[in-house]
Amino acid sequence: MQKDSIRSLDVPLNKKCGEKFQPQNLSLANLFRLSIFVKTIFLGFIFPSDCLICKDPLNCSNSGLVCQSCLLNLPFIQGPICYKCGSPIQAAIGNIPAEKLCCSDCQNKNSSFQARSVFYYEGIIRQLIHHFKFHGKVTIGKTLAKQFIDYQKKEPDFFSTHCIIPVPLGIKKLRQREFNQSYILAKVIGKYLTIPVYPFILKKIKEITPQMKLSRKERIQNIRGAFTVCKKKLIEGKDILLIDDVYTTGATIAECSKLLFQNGAGRVHALTLARSIL
Ligand SMILES: [Zn+2]
Ligand SMILES: [Zn+2]
Repeated sequence: MQKDSIRSLDVPLNKKCGEKFQPQNLSLANLFRLSIFVKTIFLGFIFPSDCLICKDPLNCSNSGLVCQSCLLNLPFIQGPICYKCGSPIQAAIGNIPAEKLCCSDCQNKNSSFQARSVFYYEGIIRQLIHHFKFHGKVTIGKTLAKQFIDYQKKEPDFFSTHCIIPVPLGIKKLRQREFNQSYILAKVIGKYLTIPVYPFILKKIKEITPQMKLSRKERIQNIRGAFTVCKKKLIEGKDILLIDDVYTTGATIAECSKLLFQNGAGRVHALTLARSIL
C-alpha cells in the first residue's frame, strides 16, 4: 500500500478541478461545462477530495486530508522511550520504571529539557511533512498537528504549560516558504488547549548551513548563537512547550531550550511531530 500511497501524493488533490476550460466561446455547451466546473470547485470546498494515502473518498467527519483508518496506521512511536530526549529504547529494560529509562546518549548529558515526538520520521509521515513544508500543503500540517492532541492523553504533564513557542525560521527561509511550519503546528495545539502561542519570543538571527548536511557535532556548532530571545519578561518563571516539526539530533531544540532557560524560563518541554532515528 505504501508505494501507491507515496505515488498518490504527487497527484493533484482534485483532478477534476485541474481540467482546462476555454472561456472564448460561451456557447450553450461551454456554459454547461462552466457550470460543471464551478460546481466541482464549490463541492470540493464542502466535501474534501480523496484520502491522500489510500485514495478512499473522505466523508464529512474527516477534518483533514487523510482518512481516519490511515491516520491510525501511521508510524506512531510506541513502547519504551528515554525519559529525557524521548528516543525509543530497544534494549532490555528489566525493572527500570518508565520515568527513569535513559538512552546512552542522555546518560552522559545534563539536558535541561525533555522532548517527545509523535511519529517516526519515515515513509508516509516523511512524505506528508515534506508536502506540508515544501509544497505549502498547510492543511496536511494542521491534520497532523491534531495528533499532538491525542498525544496529550499519553503524557498530560507535557501539555501543562503557560505558553507555547514555535521554533522560528530565519527571515530568508520564511520569505521563501511564506509560513513557519512550527507556528502552524503550535497554533493548532494552542487553540485546543487555550494556551497562548508566542511566535515572537524566539528569533532566528543567523542564517546557518542546512543542518541535514551536517554531522551531529557539526549541527551543534552550526546552530550555536543562531537564536535570540525577545520580550523575556513573558517567559520568566514560566513553563514552556517548544514546538518543532522534526527532531533529528536535538541540536536545535537544545539550543532553543538553553536560551529560554538563560532568559528565565521555569521548565521547557519540547514536542515535535516526528523523530529521525539516526
Ligand atoms: Zn485513507
Ligand atoms: Zn535520551
